[in-house]
Amino acid sequence: MNEHSIRDVVIVGGGTAGWMTAAAFSRFLNNGYTRVTLVESEEIGIIGVGEATIPPIIRYNQIIGLNENQFLAETNGTIKLGIEFVDWGGLGERYIHPFGNYGQDLQGVHFHQLYLRERKRRVMPDISAWSMSAVAAAMGRFARPSPDARSPVRELFYAFHFDAMLYAQLLRRLSESRGTKRIEGKVVDVSLRAEDGFVEAVTLADGRRIAGDLFIDCSGFRGLLIEEALETGYEHWNQWLPCDRAIAVPSALTGDPDPFTRATAHANGWQWRIPLQHRMGNGLVYSSAYQDDDSAERELLASLEGAPLADPRRLQFVTGRRRQTWNRNVVSLGLSSGFIEPLESTSIHLIQTGIARLIALFPDKRFNPVERDEYNRQMRELYEDVRDFIVLHYKATKRDDSEFWNRCRTMDVPESLMRKVELFQAKGRLFRDNFELFSNTSWVAVCLGQHIVPEEHEPAADALDEDAIAEALEQIRRGYWETAQQLPTHAEFLRRCAPAQFAAPQAPPRQAGDMPFFSFSEESPFPRDTGSPV
Ligand SMILES: Cc1cc2nc3c(=O)[nH]c(=O)nc-3n(C[C@H](O)[C@H](O)[C@H](O)COP(=O)(O)OP(=O)(O)OC[C@H]3O[C@@H](n4cnc5c(N)ncnc54)[C@H](O)[C@@H]3O)c2cc1C
Repeated sequence: MNEHSIRDVVIVGGGTAGWMTAAAFSRFLNNGYTRVTLVESEEIGIIGVGEATIPPIIRYNQIIGLNENQFLAETNGTIKLGIEFVDWGGLGERYIHPFGNYGQDLQGVHFHQLYLRERKRRVMPDISAWSMSAVAAAMGRFARPSPDARSPVRELFYAFHFDAMLYAQLLRRLSESRGTKRIEGKVVDVSLRAEDGFVEAVTLADGRRIAGDLFIDCSGFRGLLIEEALETGYEHWNQWLPCDRAIAVPSALTGDPDPFTRATAHANGWQWRIPLQHRMGNGLVYSSAYQDDDSAERELLASLEGAPLADPRRLQFVTGRRRQTWNRNVVSLGLSSGFIEPLESTSIHLIQTGIARLIALFPDKRFNPVERDEYNRQMRELYEDVRDFIVLHYKATKRDDSEFWNRCRTMDVPESLMRKVELFQAKGRLFRDNFELFSNTSWVAVCLGQHIVPEEHEPAADALDEDAIAEALEQIRRGYWETAQQLPTHAEFLRRCAPAQFAAPQAPPRQAGDMPFFSFSEESPFPRDTGSPV
């Protein structure tokens, strides 16, 4: 510590973003010097609908010292092995976007290239038969991945569904037990320093003033500091992402929870179905240009499998990103930094990676612009990568049954996406750029699932012996199928996560050079996938 070190960090907002930040800071800024204060307003409340995640959340929970069984029990959490997409490529069609990899690369050739080649010779099952996570999801089975390198169970990649309100409460208890100070109150004013426009303090409705060196804006869509005080600006993406409304409603479970999310395309948007231990989370995401709120609500309620458990909640959003996620001494995390839409469950991950990158580039009171610029560059690239992948789902469709789908099918898409799709369409090639979140598996799943089928495979796949490929493919497929059959059912797995088995939450021991939370390669759900063809 020195005279430039940040002393007071003020987090404004106590939703998923605020408490995830506080929990991570309570571990990584636990230096006896930096003080972390979180201000939230119960009167305003939290959005609380983020219920589906992607695999790096496992790492976040480990790093902050959350026992996974305790987490599942206390958040009514379930396992997620991927997303089943229904009616996206065309009406009556379905495919799964699984976590993990497809099969195994052979002699430096990507598995999907071997699959494409073999598919020219004979009728093949869907590529999901070569994903351990997809096979287990279809059977409703799960076990934690085995450390045994020879077992196909190690190919099971997973994330969670959970109750976001309960998760925020769990993180709050953890953070407060490690010294985070929580202040209940409504921020009514933000004061800026005259000399440089940096935020100096926030003032609460009761007159209390909370000063800080670094402010984290987790105040939700409104962006109390980043936008209302600093006027950072917002880049709109509604020309590519047409939905701007959602209605959420929980319903009673009608059977055991499935270990996957379902996203069903509708005439003017899509519906999520997220099974938790105690209820089903449902929501319709739609475009107000094509559907009014009352008819969307009727459509959602009519589609529920079980009785509704609460009144439907209507939400509005604007897709896009804040022009700078870090501006002066304010870093925005969560909905205040942008919103892409929940189709691939990426918002909580964007919070997680925003925290990780902030810790990796943590400033001092001099706020070196090079750190801020690097942070903004990384976050911009990440947001754009995620945006492109989501846009792909809307663009790659044969649906022509509504004005909404006609518009999506024929819209111009970002050049970065076009390039990727054209490369895949030609010879199934995919290249994963630095830190890009979605792996080759993800792109293959959505492209093949939504009719972007390569005209040819790449020449390298022809160098391998045909019969050897056929045999290897069959062995892998059978191995996954037989292994999945031996796994416990998802319901049985959840029963085994009984409260008696938790250990108290504990931070993992910190060692010199221990920076796993910052390791972007580890953040990837698909660590084996390098994006390189050889
Ligand atoms: C329809 C929909 C579905 C979604 N589904 C998913 C999903 O499946 N997976 C996923 O990863 N993400 C999902 N998300 C995103 C996810 O909900 C958010 O990323 C996450 O909840 C983070 O929200 P937040 O903490 O930024 O904001 P909020 O939850 O809105 O929290 C804002 C906080 O700021 C406080 N606050 C605001 N103003 C003031 C003030 N003046 N004074 C004091 N405090 C104030 C509030 O009290 C609250 O504590 C979804 C979002 C939407 C809209």
